Amino acid sequence: MAEREREHVRVAVIGSGFGGLGAAVRLRRQGITDFVVLERAGSVGGTWRDNSYPGCACDVPSHLYSFSFAPNPRWPRNFSGQPHIRAYLEHVTDTFGLRPHLRFNSEVHSLRWSNDDLWWEIETASGPLVADVVVSATGPLSDPKIPDIPGLGTFPGKVFHSARWDHDHDLRGKRVAMIGTGASAVQIVPAIQPDVAHLSLFQRTPAWVLPRADRRITAAEQWLHTKIPATRAARRGLLWGIRELQVSAFTKRPNELGLVEVIGRAHMKKAVKDPELRAKLSPDYRIGCKRILLSNTYYPALTEPNVDVIAAGLKEVRGSTLIGSDGSETEADAIIFGTGFHVTDMPIGHRVTGAHGTTLAEEWKDGMEALRGASAAGFPNFLTIIGPNTGLGNSSMILMIEAQLTYMADYLRQLDVLGGRIALDARPEAVADWTRHMQQRMERTVWTTGGCDSWYLDANGRNTTAWPGTTAEFKRVTRQVDLAEYTLLRPPAGRRTPATTEEVAA
Ligand code: NAP
Repeated sequence: MAEREREHVRVAVIGSGFGGLGAAVRLRRQGITDFVVLERAGSVGGTWRDNSYPGCACDVPSHLYSFSFAPNPRWPRNFSGQPHIRAYLEHVTDTFGLRPHLRFNSEVHSLRWSNDDLWWEIETASGPLVADVVVSATGPLSDPKIPDIPGLGTFPGKVFHSARWDHDHDLRGKRVAMIGTGASAVQIVPAIQPDVAHLSLFQRTPAWVLPRADRRITAAEQWLHTKIPATRAARRGLLWGIRELQVSAFTKRPNELGLVEVIGRAHMKKAVKDPELRAKLSPDYRIGCKRILLSNTYYPALTEPNVDVIAAGLKEVRGSTLIGSDGSETEADAIIFGTGFHVTDMPIGHRVTGAHGTTLAEEWKDGMEALRGASAAGFPNFLTIIGPNTGLGNSSMILMIEAQLTYMADYLRQLDVLGGRIALDARPEAVADWTRHMQQRMERTVWTTGGCDSWYLDANGRNTTAWPGTTAEFKRVTRQVDLAEYTLLRPPAGRRTPATTEEVAA
């Protein structure tokens, strides 16, 4: 396509979940309006739009699980449900004037770096464009993972994933098989158990489940938070501080978590009287190794007469019969996969071709690596929000996202200061140093030593998802871009400066 027909923007943000919307707010605050937000769906919200399964809620308190720059004094509960969180993101979109930047139904098909023009050539479902900088905020929990189960195609009933809930399909009176016992399943099980004829829960690995300290936030509290913002800030500060103090147990002294296991066992014992069921539900690894789950209704639901816990994975399907890895056979009318997401194999990676002609997926075939969670070597002016080793086990991801947005803002500022057509490419040595540092710190963490397998670990057993420190430390290390960690790229000699947005539009 001729250069003139292509739209040229300074920044293309991919995704409109917390990461993408946060990036958009930050760009506008920086005075940058020449940007678009490319969204594959028809509305904002990302993970909080797609996960609408019964019982879906966040188990990080809302006063912490929200943007610092967009406080909501009227959160209705400690742990808000998905509809409230989704509504919050719509509200942020309107309040910060983001609508003009949004491009819905614009799934990104490919991104290709041009070494000549120092820009990204982007093909989307709504047409091509070029961007000087790409901010990829596609999120780690966006592409559902359904295991490759032999015979699944022969199943005559309904099959869907927790993140693609089919609300038109009535589960009432059906024999339902729930696959998985992660954070999604633990919310779905108690929500659907009263309605279904029978629920068979395929549990490959039992989860640690702790009490959920949820409650309504009273009208008086909401009034106080509205009238005296300092009370809201204090509440957020307290929620944050408590979680910061917990971090060292996860990252340095996992044995301390043994005390928390006592609470988990007592929580189970209170609800599950049958010793045989308790034995099935008892984890044999250190708490925290997998994400700790919070629920007051999960264990009680499992004791109901219409529920069976099959302590096995789903191995095969033969028509309407589900075969467990223990050889058991279960009849079902519907299968719900609560089997998680493509986290360590970031799906967008297959669509991004960098400066050396290789894709991000190819570069990351042995594991994801990015400087300060943001920049991969050979992918200039490409920043990832919630990139490698930026995930949290015990606190709010929004804190990590905001730190990465500060890094993004400084990156763009530095490009401005340097001036002209320019790009920054993370130096391979800097990326390697950072990754080595991350992996060294992983050695002592509960995710490595806890005796479990989890989605934090990639195919090689390396933890490329979690951040092994406090959120305060992450904020510190992402405050500024250190130019010494980057190579400065300028257009090849003799290359004319590409047309500006205004020239292209003219
Ligand atoms: P997940 O944590 O990855 O859990 C997937 C589950 O599927 C695991 O229990 C896994 O077993 C099981 N599984 C996979 N293949 C199986 C098979 N063939 N047979 C039986 N079981 C199988 O996924 P998720 O529950 O969707 O949660 C993902 C993440 O989303 C969470 O960790 C959390 O960060 C976020 N989330 C948060 C909330 C919240 O805030 N409350 C709610 C939902 C999700 P193994 O354990 O043996 O691998």
